[in-house]
Amino acid sequence: MPVRRFTRGLRFQLTASYGVFFTLLLLALAFIFRGALASNINDENNANLSEDWGALKGYLKVEHGKPDFFYDHDDPDEAATVSRLRRVYLFLDERGKVVQETPSFDSLTILPASHVPTPERIRRDIQSGLVSWEARDEEGHPYQVRGGIWGDAYEPNRRYCVAIGRSIAYSRTLLQHFTWLCWGVVPLAIVAGCWLGWFTAGRALTPVLQVARSAQRISGSNLSLRIPARGAHDELDYLISTFNQMIGRLENSFTQIRQFSIDVSHELRTPITIIRGQLEVALFTAQTAEQYRDAIVSSLQDIERLSQIVRALLLLSQAETGQVVLQKSPLDLAAVVKDITEQFEIPAEGAQVHLSVSVGDEPLTADADRVQIERMLSNLLSNAMKFTPEGGEVRVKLARRDNDAELIVEDTGVGIPADHLPHIFDRFYRVGSPSASASPERGLGLGLSFVAWIAKAHNGSVNVESEPGKGTRFIVRLPLSPVPSPGNEQNLIATHD
Ligand code: ADP
Repeated sequence: MPVRRFTRGLRFQLTASYGVFFTLLLLALAFIFRGALASNINDENNANLSEDWGALKGYLKVEHGKPDFFYDHDDPDEAATVSRLRRVYLFLDERGKVVQETPSFDSLTILPASHVPTPERIRRDIQSGLVSWEARDEEGHPYQVRGGIWGDAYEPNRRYCVAIGRSIAYSRTLLQHFTWLCWGVVPLAIVAGCWLGWFTAGRALTPVLQVARSAQRISGSNLSLRIPARGAHDELDYLISTFNQMIGRLENSFTQIRQFSIDVSHELRTPITIIRGQLEVALFTAQTAEQYRDAIVSSLQDIERLSQIVRALLLLSQAETGQVVLQKSPLDLAAVVKDITEQFEIPAEGAQVHLSVSVGDEPLTADADRVQIERMLSNLLSNAMKFTPEGGEVRVKLARRDNDAELIVEDTGVGIPADHLPHIFDRFYRVGSPSASASPERGLGLGLSFVAWIAKAHNGSVNVESEPGKGTRFIVRLPLSPVPSPGNEQNLIATHD
């Protein structure tokens, strides 16, 4: 896998974000803990030194410039305390001259500049208020030193300087160990954390890869394949079920397209076969001009049917892909219904079918395309006439239903069996034997597809109810244009003023 693709991978990115977050968290924790430990150790060192200073005040007495420790020599505790106090100890007289000094104090250098302190300087520092400082002996061991002014028991005017020190090597070592531990453990923890992140991200993403692999196997020819759900009822199962539903919808569309291609080829093949037969018969058997003419006329009729199918299909495809722009304008539906029904009166008379229309007096205006509405009504009426035998009845009704216009075209014709009803609006769907498809009276099976599209394009709907042997009823609903209320009109006038 190329590096770029690898670093862009979800697994890498998850691990990287996890690693960065974990590193920052560990570093922050290490700094916080180290800071807290250092401050605690410092406090404890200062407290210990203050305790020693308090004890010094109890034991060290100066009489006429001569310092001495006064304590119970038989008390081991006191003896131990005094010996501890005298381990790192310095006494300067009022002129800064060393009176008493232990060798370990003499070896101390003051931090941080590591300069060797002269007694004079220590005296000046103490007198200027310095109480505590850090120092280091020749071997580098750290010490905490505390100094102060001392008085004389008999000569109150004399002021001396005293300093004692205490080793803080143990606490420093403790802090150092903690730091080393941090530097050792933190990188290890980061590496372990990253590995854990990589492993967890891999486990979490495995089902995604499985889904992708299953999806790769699905193609146009095996759309019946489904990705098995894992049964975990988690987000991935939800993704899988959504994906499966999408494949189901695609499968339906593919089946419809396949069926449509079969239907189209069938519809076009039948007239072509007939034309070919007619022309071949004429070529081999016709002898007179009359016979040739008959063959050509009948072929032309079939060619006309072919071009009707192609024209209707083209228009329907354009309509369904939104390429037909409706020319909508306020349209009086009652007038259109009356006009179109009138056009069917003569054919109805010829077929001995009683045609009636009822539109009411109320004007029903819809924002609609006149040509398409007329086409819809013509299709419904011509079907009703075609499927109603002599002596039957065809009724057209138009009425208001809430904010819609309801157009009903019903007949007392042959009716449609219930199992055909769900497919009646599909392209090329016709009730009856396929063998009759060649008959010239037989329709194209596209009329109701147009009706459904026209109703939908006007934000309306079409439904069918039918009982074989009794008749069929098509109910179209179209939204009416909103009628401006008197209040709105006033508002309009007011606005225009
Ligand atoms: P066609 O051009 O065949 O009429 P349509 O799409 O208009 O195509 O109609 C499809 C089929 O629906 C018809 O072939 C017919 O079987 C059935 N059909 C439509 N209208 C009626 C009706 N009023 N009565 C009975 N059957 C009908």
